[in-house]
Amino acid sequence: MASGAEKDSDSATAADTKLAQQENAANSLCPICLDPIDDTAYTDPCFHTFCFHCIKQWADMAATCPLCRWPIKTILHMVRSDEED
Ligand SMILES: [Zn+2]
Ligand SMILES: [Zn+2]
Repeated sequence: MASGAEKDSDSATAADTKLAQQENAANSLCPICLDPIDDTAYTDPCFHTFCFHCIKQWADMAATCPLCRWPIKTILHMVRSDEED
């Protein structure tokens, strides 16, 4: 009698990609210049993030979001100010 040999090889290496994506969210890249976003600006109303200078330059040529092509109404610039009135 031949015994059916079942080999169950557990390969648990699929969880690495999820970790990489989570780390990316903390320090996201600008889709225009592909560098880490330095001076964060948001497009309104779709709220995609870019460097302020990148999206400002882009909006000069095309008033649509480079990511989703939604018309840009305003560019929201997040300024870190230590001073408060
Ligand atoms: Zn940029
Ligand atoms: Zn967008």
